[in-house]
This record gives sequence, C-alpha cells and structure tokens, in this order.
Amino acid sequence: MTIIEKLQKILPSDQLSTQVDHLNVGSKDESTLDAVIPLAVVRAKTADQICEIVKICHETKTPLTTRGAGSALEGSTIPSADGIVLDVSLMTEIIEFNPDDLQVTVQPGIIYDHLNNHLKQESLFFPPSPGGSGDIATIGGMVSTNASGIYSVKYGGTKDYILELEIVTGDGRFMKIGNRAIKRSSGYNLVDLISGSEGTLAVITSITLKLAGLPEGRLKTAFKFESATKAAQAVSEICKYGIDIAAIEFLDKNVMEALNLLKDYNLEEVPALFLEFHGSDEVVNSNNEMAQSICEELGGSPLTLADGQNPWEIRHYVTESIKHRKPGYTILRNDVAFPISKLPEMVNYCHELSKESNIMIHAFGHVGLGLLHALILADKNNQDEWTKAIEINDLIIKRTLGLRGTISGEHGIGIGHKNLFELEHGDSISLMQKIKKQFDPHNILNPGKIFDI
Ligand SMILES: Cc1cc2nc3c(=O)[nH]c(=O)nc-3n(C[C@H](O)[C@H](O)[C@H](O)COP(=O)(O)OP(=O)(O)OC[C@H]3O[C@@H](n4cnc5c(N)ncnc54)[C@H](O)[C@@H]3O)c2cc1C
Repeated sequence: MTIIEKLQKILPSDQLSTQVDHLNVGSKDESTLDAVIPLAVVRAKTADQICEIVKICHETKTPLTTRGAGSALEGSTIPSADGIVLDVSLMTEIIEFNPDDLQVTVQPGIIYDHLNNHLKQESLFFPPSPGGSGDIATIGGMVSTNASGIYSVKYGGTKDYILELEIVTGDGRFMKIGNRAIKRSSGYNLVDLISGSEGTLAVITSITLKLAGLPEGRLKTAFKFESATKAAQAVSEICKYGIDIAAIEFLDKNVMEALNLLKDYNLEEVPALFLEFHGSDEVVNSNNEMAQSICEELGGSPLTLADGQNPWEIRHYVTESIKHRKPGYTILRNDVAFPISKLPEMVNYCHELSKESNIMIHAFGHVGLGLLHALILADKNNQDEWTKAIEINDLIIKRTLGLRGTISGEHGIGIGHKNLFELEHGDSISLMQKIKKQFDPHNILNPGKIFDI
C-alpha cells in the first residue's frame, strides 16, 4: 500500500489532497528559495489524527513537514519532494482561557492577531508580535521559530511565554511537556528545546501561553538622525540608561526611500528610530523626555510624521517596500543578532559593503534586542551580481559571529542559513543530532532543515 493509500484509510477525503493547487500552496514559504512539490497535503483537525499521521510516516519513513501559515522566511516550511505536508491551519480553537492566571491554551493553527483580538476583552495580550506577519502567522509557527517582534525589547520573545506544550514526537508518541507554573526548577527544559526547533523534533498540538496585561497607555514617537551611526549609537545609549522602552526600531535612509516609493508617505529620507513607551501618562512622558535628550545629544531631533500616520503601520510595509523597489530584483535577507553595543559597527559595515559592491542594502530591525536585518537587493539573473550578493550576506553573518552574535535572532535557520550553521555551533551540532534522534528516530520530521543528520 502506498503512503497516500494508508493516509486515505484514516482521513476523510476533504483532509487529504494531491491536487496541484493544494500541492503548490504547500510547496513554499515566504523565502525566495525554490519551492518543492510534496506528494500530498493533509489537513489535520485533532491531535489524535496527528498521532496517526505521524505513525504512518514513521513506519513508511516518509518525510513530514508541518505547516502553519507558511510565512517563514528561511525555507523551514519547504517540504521534501518524497514527503507530505501536515497543515495544522484548521486547528484554530482557544481550548482554555484563564484570565485570572494570565494564561491561555490554544491549538497550534490559531493566528496571532486573532488570538490577541480575543484576549483584549480581558485587557490581556500575547506580546511578541511578529510585526508584518501578525495577521497570518500561527502560534504553532511562532513557537517553532521562537518568533519575536517590535515589543520583544520590553516583553521578550515567544520562548519567554510558553508554559506547557502537547506534542507528537517523530515516532508518534503523544506527550505533555512543561506545566502551568510560572517559576520552575524541575528537570530539563524540554519546552525551550522545542521552541525554535522548526518542526524537526515534534509536531505541536497545543500550546499554553502566559500573557501580559495590556498597557495603561502608549506613546509612539520617532527621531531622525544625520547618520545611521548616530542613530545606532542612540539605541545602545537609551538601553544603557535603563529607559523603559516597549519598542525601538531602526530604519536606514534606504528603507525610508523605499517606503516613500511604495506608499507616498512623504517621510524625510534620513536614518530614523521609531519608539513606543508603555505606562501611565506620567511614565511615558518622562521616558520619552529622557530618550529625546539622549537622541539630541547625538544630533537627533523629533521626526514629524504626517497627521494620522502610525509608525507601526509604516514599519509594517518595510519588507514589501523593499521587494517592490526594483522590479525583477530579489531580496537576500538575514536576521543577525549581536551584543547591543556593536550595532553602530554592524550598521556601518553593511553600508560599507554596499558602497564597495554597488549593491543596495536596506538596514532595519528590532535593534533594542541587537537584531538587525540587512536586506540585500540584487538581480538573480545577473550571475556576477547575485554571487556578490551572496558573498556580502556571508560576510555580514561572519562579522556577526566574530562579535559573538548569532546567524539568526528571529527567523531560524531553515535551509537558507544551513551552510553557516557549523561556524556558529561547531562540535555542539553532534549533540543536537543525537537529541534529534531521540525525538525522531527515522529523521522524518522536516528533514534537511537546520542541519543534516
Ligand atoms: C512580512 C513578514 C514579516 C515578518 N516579521 C517577522 C518578525 O517581525 N519576527 C519574526 O520572528 N518573524 C517574522 N516573520 C517570519 C514568520 O512570520 C514567523 O517565523 C512566524 O512565526 C511563522 O509562523 P507560520 O505560522 O507562518 O509558520 P510556518 O511558516 O508555517 O512554519 C514555520 C516553521 O515552524 C514549523 N511549524 C509550524 N507549525 C508547527 C507545529 N504546529 N508544530 C511543529 N512545527 C511547526 C514549520 O515546520 C516550520 O519549520 C515575518 C514574515 C513575513 C512574511
């Protein structure tokens, strides 16, 4: 019996598809990496079904790639040609909501914005917004990539909010890991191991998150600078002074230009910081004043946005604006992270590489976390230019590692960053390979991602 026939035996016909349009959707994510058409797409509705599906894949040694919304940016959701896609986007239930404990338990397919819309009735929220993808990214996908966002500088990333998970391991074992205690010192932290594992260790079937109270008030502001270096210096100064910032985003001149081209925002085309403070009027005003005086010491001044313009709506369009800047060009992306004081050095380095190579780089990011995106825009059909772009990307990553940083502070390794993974992790990869084998003895769960076995 083929794998498809085995799956047909346990699933209703509307939950299993080999139709070309469904296979196409399951073949890719939001990266610019090549799509791979799988054998089939299955749409699970329950944890029991997931157990059955994984057991069949284990027995037949069939690769299985779990898929939430497919908004990943490094190819971690691209399946194997001889494998199946397990789509969990129908599993959108809020299983249990305990506002008094500030906790919620959800199925993995619920979308980030939908969850927060529900939580706000109790003045609660799940803070690590994945920015531009909050309206599509699923909580299962966020856990699997340890997603973070504009508010992570104050509130932390997804990993900081996971209390309990229900998972199915690669041999079809269902188990609960973690518990609902906020403080715990009991055994190995398997929850942390699953978070960021990009679907290679287990399929997540339910997630209990802790939550935060919605802030009493918010103040959004923006500053402009003469140079990107000064803007970057202001970030580490603001953090060093212990100012309670909820968000601090850097956008270089190229990003501001791209935004104007896409949306006619009429922004001043200068390096900028967008900030947000949370708390009472008194608290946000005093934090804003302190941040302003630090920015002014570094030559910065308030950046006035047009009436009704929201910095986060503008920030939302950054990637799209870069994508549309040069029709026919492709984005080569990175999401490096490093100690905060190195931000000016890294921003300068990216701009120097751009100048030397004549290849356009747009630098921006959740810089309060020392996280920088340097999006390289190049013509994939021009062999010389594309090779140069790849070299630049590798140089940015290598410089980051030299500063004791990481290849990925946000999007994961997937396929896109696999080639440099060993440079960051060295001998510890052999330990990761052994851990993977314990969870997934036949290497069926999202094989070929992060590292090879
Ligand atoms: C415009 C844009 C902006 C973005 N901004 C940010 C940002 O600010 N911060 C950020 O962190 N990311 C960002 N991302 C990346 C992406 O949205 C996040 O990584 C998101 O968490 C992925 O969620 P998803 O549901 O799309 O997951 P998918 O792409 O479907 O899956 C991602 C990975 O998780 C695995 N997976 C998914 N569900 C499960 C499950 N139930 N069990 C086990 N494994 C699973 C998949 O196999 C895959 O390896 C952005 C993407 C876009 C397109």
